[in-house]
Amino acid sequence: MKPLQQQIAIVTGASSGIGQGVAIALAKAGAKVCINYRSSEDGAKKTLKEIEQNGGEGFIQQADVSQPEAVKTMFRNTVEQYGTVDILVNNAGIQVDAPFLEMSHDDWQKVIDVNLSSQFYCSQEAAKEFIRRGIVEERSKAAGKIICMSSVHDIIPWAGHINYATAKAGILMFAKTLAQELAEKKIRVNAISPGAIKTDINRDAWEDDASREKLLQLIPYQRVGEVEDIGKAAVWLASDDSDYVQGQTIYIDGGMTLYPGFKDNG
Ligand code: NAP
Repeated sequence: MKPLQQQIAIVTGASSGIGQGVAIALAKAGAKVCINYRSSEDGAKKTLKEIEQNGGEGFIQQADVSQPEAVKTMFRNTVEQYGTVDILVNNAGIQVDAPFLEMSHDDWQKVIDVNLSSQFYCSQEAAKEFIRRGIVEERSKAAGKIICMSSVHDIIPWAGHINYATAKAGILMFAKTLAQELAEKKIRVNAISPGAIKTDINRDAWEDDASREKLLQLIPYQRVGEVEDIGKAAVWLASDDSDYVQGQTIYIDGGMTLYPGFKDNG
């Protein structure tokens, strides 16, 4: 029996990069997946195609997750389609970079809305559905699982990206507080903080040799991460194999958070 057999997952931002990798990994582990996207329908179709080619099941749902009404519609449609939701992966995220003194209020707000507030809107809808349905023992020991995609920049400051780093630091405490509050309802909440993973969001940092060399100086394990590295962790956090894991942020970063600059005596 696959670890997520019969379970229903919503993955936000599943049309590209980490979200796409996570959606495919959850489907391979047996979950039926709501593939959310905002603008890239082709990317969402690619995700669905790969899920189906691997014998899995899913459907595509457009929604801007920074909009609470769109989030409600996405949950309603998923429940209509598959009956319930067991797993939420809050993955959607953007970067809009600028030096602090030049960052517009809009660019500050947009990144906070998409990267942080969306996790509040989606988690609230998910928790309501988990509590409505309760535990179904054949599927999982928990009433539901929420996985928040954060970043190593929840603890590593990042000049020129203050909106992004602040949103990610917010997710660190959001996940812990939600985990504390919802534990008695048997809802598990954890976060994943990726280091550098090869996706569109950071293409300039790994695409050419010179940029990759520079990036590798920050990664003790000496390789750039792949979306599959994150997908495997998401499957584990969504499954009963991690049933006693609550409120944790797992750093999947090849050691990026180990202060590599101090390796040779600082
Ligand atoms: P990506 O390839 O650019 O993918 C971002 C995804 O988010 C896309 O599917 C995009 O959908 C979706 N999205 C953006 N705004 C949205 C909105 N308002 N509503 C719904 N979906 C929205 O980036 P990625 O690297 O996979 O990033 C995924 C997550 O991992 C982000 O939270 C990011 O901060 C985090 N992360 C990434 C890295 C890394 O090294 N790649 C490291 C740490 C953390 P559309 O394209 O359809 O608009």
